[in-house]
Amino acid sequence: MYKYTEVADNKYVLSLDNHVEICTALKAFCIEKEIYAGSITGLGAINQATFRFLDPAIKQYVDKTFEEQMEITNLTGNISQSPDNPVDPYLHIHITASRRDYSCIGGHLLSARVNGACELLVEDFADSHAIGRRFDEETGLNLYQF
Ligand code: FE
Repeated sequence: MYKYTEVADNKYVLSLDNHVEICTALKAFCIEKEIYAGSITGLGAINQATFRFLDPAIKQYVDKTFEEQMEITNLTGNISQSPDNPVDPYLHIHITASRRDYSCIGGHLLSARVNGACELLVEDFADSHAIGRRFDEETGLNLYQF
């Protein structure tokens, strides 16, 4: 699903295999390395993706799927613990992707399929505490819990 190298203490460069789903691969990597607090940045190319938009009025995500070749012009995310299972890595990822006409779309990333390359930097905040989350009634979000 991926290849990786540790480039510095707790910093990993990942190269995802072609056609894998990005969130699935990242979650598998976090499980392998037991990462429960960290950050993710990346770029690459995809040909299928589902983005989410949180509608604050109804506190629900609206999902939309795009089936076209796109460049990942930015992928930014964080890693914490799932609200209901501290040993389950919780990924929160946002993405901007550019289309053939150079316009961009983006949102909260639900899934995206690599078509070409996907190169990521994952930093494990291993020396700090794991970071938890708790459901927040007001926003309808699983917010950080410090
Ligand atoms: Fe989000």
